This record gives sequence, C-alpha cells and structure tokens, in this order.
Amino acid sequence: MAIRTVLDRAADGGRITADEALLLYTEAPLHALGQAADAVRRRRFAGDSVDIATYIIDRNINYTNVCVTACKFCAFYRAPNHSEGWTHSLEEILRRCGEAVDLGATQIMLQGGHSPELGIEWYERAFAAIKSGYPQLTLHSLGASEVVHIGRTSDLDHATVISRLKAAGLDSFAGAGAEILVDRPRTAIAPLKEPGHVWLDVMETAHGLGLESTATFMMGTGETNAERIEHLRMIRDVQDRTGGFRSFIPWTYQPENNHLKGRTQATSLEYLRMVAVARLFFDNVNHLQGSWLTTGKDIGQLTLHFGADDLGSVMLEENVVSSAGARHRSNRAELIELIRGAGRVPAQRDTLYRHLVVHRDPAQDPVDHRVHSHFSSTALTLTPAAAAS
Ligand code: SF4
Repeated sequence: MAIRTVLDRAADGGRITADEALLLYTEAPLHALGQAADAVRRRRFAGDSVDIATYIIDRNINYTNVCVTACKFCAFYRAPNHSEGWTHSLEEILRRCGEAVDLGATQIMLQGGHSPELGIEWYERAFAAIKSGYPQLTLHSLGASEVVHIGRTSDLDHATVISRLKAAGLDSFAGAGAEILVDRPRTAIAPLKEPGHVWLDVMETAHGLGLESTATFMMGTGETNAERIEHLRMIRDVQDRTGGFRSFIPWTYQPENNHLKGRTQATSLEYLRMVAVARLFFDNVNHLQGSWLTTGKDIGQLTLHFGADDLGSVMLEENVVSSAGARHRSNRAELIELIRGAGRVPAQRDTLYRHLVVHRDPAQDPVDHRVHSHFSSTALTLTPAAAAS
C-alpha cells in the first residue's frame, strides 16, 4: 500500500479502510497528514463557513461524584458512603444553570457518577425543572453509560430510559463514557463499565429514537495504535447506519490522582496525528473538535490545521478531567484569539453547530472576562478577583 496513494484518495474525499487509516496514522509524514485533513475540512465546509472555526459557551454540572463503576482512570468519583461523596440538590443545580445563563451559556452538560441512589425519576425531575426554569438552555447531557446505569437502577430497558429522558427534556446525549471501545484496553481501564458494543448499541437506539449525540475518544491509556484505529472503525460503522453522531471529540488521558499505574499520556504529536486521521477516516461525521483542555492551547490551536473545525467549550465549570490533572484554563477572549491566530474566523456556536455570533471584526470582539473556565467542585465564583484571573 503506497502512503501517497491512500493520502491522496482520502484528501479527495474517498473512503479509507481501517488498515489504510492505521498506515497513515503510523507512517504518513505529519505535514502531509495535516494538509490532507485540512483539504477534507475545506471541502466539507466549502462556502461561507470554510474560514470559520467555532466554540461554545457551556457549563458542565457534575451533579454527583458518587459512583459504583470505579473506572481506574477516574480521579473524580467516590464510592457510595465515602465521607467525601456528595450529590447536589435540585436547587443547587438550578442555581448553577441560572449563573450559566447570566454568562451567556447556551448548553448544559449534566455529567456525574453512577450513583445507586439516583433512579430515572431523579433525572426526570431535574430535566423538567431545568427546562421549565431555563427553556433557552440546551440539555446536552448524560450518555450511553448513564443510560445503562439508570436502566439497572430503575429496572428498565435502554429504549425506555432514553424515551423517558427525552420526554423530560433531554435534547442530546454527550459522547462521554466511550473512553476506548475496544474490549482489551476498555476492560483494563474500566472493568465495571459496559462493554464498547453496548455503548454503541445504546447510542444506536438513541439515534433511532431521535436523540443525536457526539462520540469521544480518550487516548493514551496503554492501547495500541491498531486499537486506536479500531475505536474509530466501531463508531464509523454505527454512523453508517444512523447518522446520529454530530461530532467526534478525541482527547488525551490525564494521569494524576487515579489507579492506573504506569500509563503515559499520548504525546502531542500522537494527538495531532489522531485528529488528522479521524478527519480522513470519518467521511460520515460532520464535525471534529480539537481539545485545548487536555493538550494545551498551542496544540488546540494547531488542531485547526489538522482537520478540526471546532475548539469546544469555554467550560464555565469542569471537575472530572481537571481532577485527573488537566491544568489548562481559558476564556472566551482567549479562544477567540487562538482561532484568529490560526488564521480562521471565530464563531460562537450552539449544540447543533449553528453559528450564533460570527466574530468577523476584531474590533467588536466581546470583552466580558467573567466568561472563563472554572474547575472546582465548588460554586462558580463571580467575584472581582475571579473576573481578573
Ligand atoms: S469515569 Fe464516570 S463512570 Fe467511571 S468512575 Fe468516574 S464518574 Fe464513575
């Protein structure tokens, strides 16, 4: 197999096999990989959007850290009855939603542990209350793993859980919990989590019931290169049937404060190669998000030259990845600056990737310094000190 031939076919929009993707991932020259991925992005967003890269203002609300799944890579959870376990009241969740709205958020990601105390009724009450109090917020929340857990807790099949969550106000599933879908590495890092084929089956069911989602990949926990590509193949096969994955979001494992010993993070070059190969491999997924949170702002900016069209969220609140060592912070002005620095026009988007504000004129850029990342399990601080940070 000639690398140049495969690369040219992929850049021209032809489908590549998993074996060909592995060849490109392991052997293609880095710059050629980036150029081919960017060619694919340009064709996909030809017209007014070709020079745009997006970001979103949202808040992760981690409603509980109590979890029975005990993933080895997770530094966030506490076992049931642990003295450091907590679950937010509905009032606290609503208060955080209100703060997010005040700061211009359009999306809430409710993400939490698998608490045996929380059945389907808790989620229905929470979603209904949020939708009633803040109808302008899109609930892009939970994920396939939560569906499996709620199904067990409430003794319901997956389709019923999904239908009831949708009826209560859920707009879209987050792609978290995918980690790596391939059996061997998944079992090594998350032995109690549902198998990858179940994660995919739940997503396929959700797509069939009218709830779209994203798909993610946490790379760097000891998987082989072939297993990395197999993760992409598993998602692409489902996407061929459903078309329900709105975007693909790879990030790198963060190694602090957890029970995975001896694992090293994926390197920045491995991450950039993965972003580019994902853009070439996923001819059926519209958007590709580069991560600044786990790889840093410089690498996040570079992903925009390796096929990414989106830099994700300002993250008004995040507690899970930051618990495991993600130190990077940002704010809206900085994300806009990063995108401009990559030679692109920044645009604030919503959950469906519709452009809400296109920042074509730098003189009109927003200057609200309150819109910045906040990583802590405590409430978002809106004091002057935080505003200046
Ligand atoms: S990653 Fe999620 S499911 Fe796994 S232990 Fe942490 S909170 Fe629980």
